[in-house]
Amino acid sequence: MKMPKQFKAHCPFCKAHTVHTVERVRRGRASTMTHIARQKKRANGTGNQGKFSKVPGGDKPTKKLNLRYRCNTCKKAHNREGFRVSRFDLVEG
Ligand SMILES: [Zn+2]
Repeated sequence: MKMPKQFKAHCPFCKAHTVHTVERVRRGRASTMTHIARQKKRANGTGNQGKFSKVPGGDKPTKKLNLRYRCNTCKKAHNREGFRVSRFDLVEG
């Protein structure tokens, strides 16, 4: 899909419709010792490893977009629920 770089949207800080700029955010790398990582480490060994014995599922063909909407009036950014698209372009205007 094509999305304008700037469009009017509701700003929760200004509590009004203002011009917003779209920014793409790259998802940060997950921390190395998450809850699930600790669980997995405990399970690693011999025998049935419970849910970690499962064959991991395939990736979905598209990834959810991480977008940030920055208000041009107060310069604060807010997020919206990401959506899945195969192609994503930011267009001028
Ligand atoms: Zn604002």
